Amino acid sequence: MSKILFHEDAYLKEHQTKVKKIEGNRILLEETIFFPQTSTESGDVGKINDCKVVGLKKEGDEIWHILNKTPVFKEGDTVALQLDWNTRYKMMRLHSALHLWAGVFDCQFKERAVAGVVKSNSAYLVFKHELANEIIQKALEQANKDIREELEIKTYEDEKKKGFRWCQVGNYIPIPCGGLHVKNTKEIGELTLREKIIEAGKQKLTMEVK
Ligand SMILES: [Zn+2]
Repeated sequence: MSKILFHEDAYLKEHQTKVKKIEGNRILLEETIFFPQTSTESGDVGKINDCKVVGLKKEGDEIWHILNKTPVFKEGDTVALQLDWNTRYKMMRLHSALHLWAGVFDCQFKERAVAGVVKSNSAYLVFKHELANEIIQKALEQANKDIREELEIKTYEDEKKKGFRWCQVGNYIPIPCGGLHVKNTKEIGELTLREKIIEAGKQKLTMEVK
C-alpha cells in the first residue's frame, strides 16, 4: 500500500518518491501527494516528471496515477511529483467553506444539509426543503463573520476506527470527512452566494469564494 501524505500535510505541493509499479500509462508510487477523485469532489491534477497526471483511481487501498503517456522511467526509479497547486488550493478552500456554511445552518437554524459537492470554481449544499431567504442571508453573514474571526479547522483520524477521519471548524460540530481542508477559516476568503434554486423539491445553494 502506498503511503498517503496529503492527510498529514495538505500543503505538500512537491515530493520525491519511488515508482512501485507500472502498467502501461498507470503507475503506483511508494508515497503520494495526489488526492483521488471522490463522488463529491474532483481529484488532483499535476505532473510526475514530464508526464501529466490526468486521473487518479482508487482500487482497494491503492491509488493508481493515470498518466497522459507511457512513462520512460522504470519501476524503482525516483520521480518528482508536482501538484497543480492552484487547483488543489481552490478545492481545499471551497471544501472548507462548505463545512463552515453547513455548520452555521445546522447550529443556528437547525437546518441540516443532506449533500455537499465541490466543483472546480464553486460548491453547493443541498437541503431537503426550501429555506427562507432570511435564513440563507443570515447563515451567509455568520459564515463570513467566522471567516474574519480566523477559526481553526482541525482534521484528525478517529481514535477507534483506523482510516476514518473527522473535520471540525471552530466549535461547530465535527463532521466525518476524508477530504482536504485549509487550516484556518481566514484562508477561505469571502463567501458569496452564486445561485439559489429549487431542484426536485430540494433547495440547492451554490457559493463561491473570492
Ligand atoms: Zn471535509
